[in-house]
Amino acid sequence: MSKTFKDNFHRPPAVVFRQPLNLKSLLVRAKLSQSFSVESKGCFKTHSKRCVTCSALKETAFVQSHYTGQKFKLFHNITCNSVGLVYLINCLDCKKQYVGETGGELRIRHRGHRQEIRKANTTLGKHFQSCKNFELIGIEKLVNNSKRVREEVELKWIYRLNTFAPVGMNVKEVSHDI
Ligand SMILES: [Zn+2]
Ligand SMILES: [Zn+2]
Repeated sequence: MSKTFKDNFHRPPAVVFRQPLNLKSLLVRAKLSQSFSVESKGCFKTHSKRCVTCSALKETAFVQSHYTGQKFKLFHNITCNSVGLVYLINCLDCKKQYVGETGGELRIRHRGHRQEIRKANTTLGKHFQSCKNFELIGIEKLVNNSKRVREEVELKWIYRLNTFAPVGMNVKEVSHDI
């Protein structure tokens, strides 16, 4: 073995540094970014422009009622992958607002809204036939991801932000399970 080769072989830092990404380093990274995101409260984009939901997401630490001007701080970390949450849709053209809830991922719910707009088969879908631009904000993530709790929290935000029609886009729906 030549001296040079031996020297290189016994230089551990260089070897470690040149190692390609392995599972362990990926896990460490995931853990680091996770602990970072838990600290940051608000709504955040996590993907590039290729994610339709992240493109529509507004990065913000608060939401504001377009009707009263009142601002509310956000207390959770929400991304397009968050599950079980209440969210806000702001129409950027006429400023009307819509509060919604979902038990699944925000990006799946967003896909559902895009379909409603294509088919114009809901109040929201019809709204965006004339208005075109909107932004999406995750407001509150629910520890108890049950339909009942989600609807309670949804209603809380509807009142807080004043999003009932005709001021906003929310319509009172008749509950069928009375
Ligand atoms: Zn995304
Ligand atoms: Zn509008």
